Amino acid sequence: MQLSKNFSLKELTASQTADRHGISNNPSEDHMDNLKKLCDNVLQKVREHYGKVVSVSSGYRSPELCVKIGSSMRSQHAKGQAADFEIFGIANADLAKYIIDNLDFDQLILEFHKPEEPNSGWIHCSYKNKEENRKQVLRAYRNDDGKTVYEPYDPSWAVERLNDEKKLEQDKIIDQYMQKGIWREDGYIINRF
Ligand SMILES: [Zn+2]
Repeated sequence: MQLSKNFSLKELTASQTADRHGISNNPSEDHMDNLKKLCDNVLQKVREHYGKVVSVSSGYRSPELCVKIGSSMRSQHAKGQAADFEIFGIANADLAKYIIDNLDFDQLILEFHKPEEPNSGWIHCSYKNKEENRKQVLRAYRNDDGKTVYEPYDPSWAVERLNDEKKLEQDKIIDQYMQKGIWREDGYIINRF
């Protein structure tokens, strides 16, 4: 079954862990509708812009799959609203920048991306609906204690060496986010990072 021209339900529900452990990973009707919205508004548009295959590493996650892989059931993956993906040959910071500048989305996270390694990490992007999309952009990385940290992110920060003015601007944006509290991918609010 196709969710959009180039994306099948199979691609958005594929999971080696689910296969290996015989876990069912079938979305409900509501979650299927969410997956369709995500495909129509984000994945298909990215596919058409670049004219290249978009490799989805994780889309929908059923409750059993969330438990097995230690993913929160509050994650947008569990509602069919989010996917992790990348495009071979396109730097993830560039892909993030294209989405941020051109598409409507709820939350985009540049996950475990190192600016000095363009192919490192992947993009997590979610879509709810036009009225509720927050257009929030974060990056995730592991701190020295091995904990995953989420902080506001602007993709231009990855490609430009920060001068003082830019650094000031970055600090201001981080302050604004901190006042509001930041939604992590798994749905928890954190106030400091
Ligand atoms: Zn994700």
